[in-house]
Amino acid sequence: MENTQPVEDTRLVDDAPIGTPDRPLRVAVVGAGPSGFYAAAALLDAPGLTVSVDVLDRLPAPYGLVRYGVAPDHQKIKNVSRVFDKTARDPRVRFLGNVCFGPDLAREDLLALYDRVIYAVGAQTDRRLGIPGEDLPGSWSSTELVAWYNGHPDFMAGDFPLHHEAVAIVGIGNVAIDCARILAKSADELAATDISDEALAVLRESRVRDVWVLARRGPLQAACTPQELKELGEIPGVAVLVEPDEVADPAAEGEPDRQAQKNLELFRAFAADADKAAAAERRIHFRFLVSPVEVLAADGGIAGLRLERNRLVPKGECLSARGTGEHEVLPVSAVIRAIGYRSVPLPGVPFDERGGVIPNREGRVFDPESGEVRAREYVVGWAKRGPSGLIGTNKGDSAATIDALVADLAAAPAGGAAEPSRRAVLDRLDERGVRWVSFEDWCALDELETSRGAASGRPRIKLCRVEEMLEALAGRAENAEVVEAE
Ligand code: NAP
Repeated sequence: MENTQPVEDTRLVDDAPIGTPDRPLRVAVVGAGPSGFYAAAALLDAPGLTVSVDVLDRLPAPYGLVRYGVAPDHQKIKNVSRVFDKTARDPRVRFLGNVCFGPDLAREDLLALYDRVIYAVGAQTDRRLGIPGEDLPGSWSSTELVAWYNGHPDFMAGDFPLHHEAVAIVGIGNVAIDCARILAKSADELAATDISDEALAVLRESRVRDVWVLARRGPLQAACTPQELKELGEIPGVAVLVEPDEVADPAAEGEPDRQAQKNLELFRAFAADADKAAAAERRIHFRFLVSPVEVLAADGGIAGLRLERNRLVPKGECLSARGTGEHEVLPVSAVIRAIGYRSVPLPGVPFDERGGVIPNREGRVFDPESGEVRAREYVVGWAKRGPSGLIGTNKGDSAATIDALVADLAAAPAGGAAEPSRRAVLDRLDERGVRWVSFEDWCALDELETSRGAASGRPRIKLCRVEEMLEALAGRAENAEVVEAE
């Protein structure tokens, strides 16, 4: 199987300043999710800069969190990928998929092949509760559940058992709400989305009836947004239940902001609508001021979740949860923790274990031991600031890193790659037998997925395994036009 992307190079002039037409700035963006594409777009827009960008991803498909994180029943949010397509189609940009940082191209390779490297690797794993029983069978992270229903190749090995009637979700951010909605919706509704076929088959057999969303603080501190909360109340056949006294007079830190106020109104409306529960096929229950302290074991699974009741105590400008010593057992047989994501360290790249991010100052990567900035390395997105914000938040965040990069280049234009031609990286990958996937290849996969979906009225039917994607591309190489230059 050969690679198919045109690789024309401008003829480089050795002593020309970097970032000029004779010697374009070569940038590798590691990660083809929203922050990576926004960084590429900001580079293209930088005034007076001639640039050539490769956006690398370890998967053959681009868009990261848009494809593998955004819930399948939120197709409109996924439309943002059209903005990224526009960037990918710019002749100054190449997508190089199926290229894994580390085994395929190490940090040293990237620094030899590119003038600047931007890490846009997101947050691939989850935070842990640190309580006994967290690793029992039936205890899952939202990372696993979300990636599985979205057809992420790394999470297709096993299927998610949904033969439990009662499931607890720990956390009350938008990821927790996504998980609750997907577990509560009927498979028929989800069948019209691009949910993975394997997840759909399991959801069709789901025995889930009660989903408990557990917040360690009160309703005014809920991290979810009103739009997502409101949507829960609109799912046919699903009742959303809130204990009226838990939302009657909740504590706040000062005057609640609009989001908190709106959330409270919605929780109160749910609390007033308890009659819906009797006729509902499934129920989503919210509980406030509770923290899991132990996942209780049963024969080969989970017997329940021991909760401690909390009260709120001031901590700086916030109210934080403190245990009261009062316990109860919630009779659930599956637990999903949705308490935030965490970045994963990259080989050779500094990592802040406590913050779960790549240490940086305004996007400039630095070594935490020496405090020294790594002159040619930058970071954007969740790996830069932690796992917060909506997709659009990344636009300004990536642009800020690119501003820093451009300012640094103006201050010190020297210091670039030893092998800056566009061809060099492809040669390196070919030598190593890496079947890199071009944007044209991706477009072929996209067309295949959407045409498979169209036949059954779905936006697409995803190819969920890397081998499947590469196999689908196998026939393309013979027709490919590889433009050699230099
Ligand atoms: P998040 O918004 O930070 O929410 C994390 C939740 O976990 C909070 O409720 C937090 O409570 C709780 N938590 C943290 N540690 C805990 C612990 N030890 N015990 C119990 N609870 C704990 O994170 P997320 O839900 O993963 O979302 C990440 C980002 O993606 C957010 O910005 C979110 O808005 C965005 N997102 C958006 C959408 C959408 O627009 N539809 C969908 C998904 C995600 P405390 O507040 O008490 O810390």
